[in-house]
Amino acid sequence: MEHCDIAVIGAGPAGAAVAIQAARHGARVVVFDKAARGRDKVCGDGLTPRAVTALHDLGISLDEAHLIEGLRMIANKTERELPWPAGGRFAPYGAVWPRRRLDAYLVAAAEEAGAEVIWETEALPVFDDDGRVIGVEADAERWMADLTVAATGAPGAVAKMLGTNRVEGEPFGLAIRTYAESPRHADRHIEACLTLRDEHGTPVPGYGWMFPAGDGTVNIGVGALSTMKGFKKLNLNTLQDSYRSLVQEDWELGPNIEKPRAWRLPMSAQRRHGPGWVAVGDAAGLVNPMNGEGIDYGLESGMLVADLFNDDPATAPDEYDRLLGERFDSFLRTGRRFSFLIGHPRILRSGLRFAVGTEAIANITLQVMGNLVDADTPGAAGRVVRVADKTLAMADPLLRRTRATA
Ligand SMILES: Cc1cc2nc3c(=O)[nH]c(=O)nc-3n(C[C@H](O)[C@H](O)[C@H](O)COP(=O)(O)OP(=O)(O)OC[C@H]3O[C@@H](n4cnc5c(N)ncnc54)[C@H](O)[C@@H]3O)c2cc1C
Repeated sequence: MEHCDIAVIGAGPAGAAVAIQAARHGARVVVFDKAARGRDKVCGDGLTPRAVTALHDLGISLDEAHLIEGLRMIANKTERELPWPAGGRFAPYGAVWPRRRLDAYLVAAAEEAGAEVIWETEALPVFDDDGRVIGVEADAERWMADLTVAATGAPGAVAKMLGTNRVEGEPFGLAIRTYAESPRHADRHIEACLTLRDEHGTPVPGYGWMFPAGDGTVNIGVGALSTMKGFKKLNLNTLQDSYRSLVQEDWELGPNIEKPRAWRLPMSAQRRHGPGWVAVGDAAGLVNPMNGEGIDYGLESGMLVADLFNDDPATAPDEYDRLLGERFDSFLRTGRRFSFLIGHPRILRSGLRFAVGTEAIANITLQVMGNLVDADTPGAAGRVVRVADKTLAMADPLLRRTRATA
């Protein structure tokens, strides 16, 4: 039987952030991943200024990433190039960093900090008789740990054992992506088309994206929220194909480099901590329902756990849940309510017209959707979030009763 301070299950950004930060504090950290070293993750590879700031906080250089100055927002014929907000707490730029490389970089940083990473090994939590998690079992070997961290991504076996599955009835997302060569691979704007329609002409709450990676390729994909009418029958491959034909000419796209692959975006979790364990990143349902972003939340939740463990291992799980709630719960709850709202085609159509109607409103939309409101200088976007929070809270029962999927 081996012992470590922290056993981390999953070597994505969330697990790596725990490992980097905790190992730097001197903790003995062991990370397990069932995939092989160099694994890829189906993702858009987009990093908002919030995510870039989290990487800075983690001491990660962005030299290998393709830096992005802003977002090109497209809704029908309206097209706006919006710079990322500057002058606040977040970096004034974003980035695109293909996940195969970003995740490898983060794991290398964890190893450099002293963490041990064990690949191609599924790990499962081990409970004592009182239901406390006391470590993991991996490859028929038991690792005792003072804290076990589930950084396992979208729910699977570990979520079932810990009870962290998504909350029934809450929204979630599905998205698909591939890569293609494009002469515009070094564009400094990411592009989002907000007016997607499925093959029956139903407006899709979600967006199509072109994220230039700066390495000869662009990441092209589409994502949709489960609150959409007809979501269960939505064919993501067809949606991806129709979006591709929409942007094909403008981006002079080459053939798909790989078969488009889809994955889930969890946006809620029944629990995210318990005795001896915490969940971070996607495993804790930490995806922004307004833009599908999850890398930042993985990094932020991972760093938070490591810091709290460093302060006091005994109180870390409870404190983590409390502080995570303070930082994210209200925003994510508002985002989930918002996604019920835009599940209604008519509301989505008129809402979009308004959201991109003027440059000033589009800038606020960008800030709100990206959770880029700086608490110290909240400005107009901060006021919008506050009002949306209150209004959507009041409308919540109605939103659920009349949800488009019902
Ligand atoms: C198509 C798509 C596009 C997206 N685009 C963006 C984007 O542009 N920007 C953004 O910020 N977010 C995006 N997201 C969300 C983002 O990909 C996730 O939020 C992010 O990967 C979460 O990181 P994580 O570390 O929590 O989990 P993951 O990155 O999913 O890592 C989990 C790891 O755990 C391992 N694992 C699971 N179970 C076990 C086990 N029992 N034992 C050992 N190992 C295990 C897995 O092998 C995996 O390596 C997108 C998602 C999708 C599906």
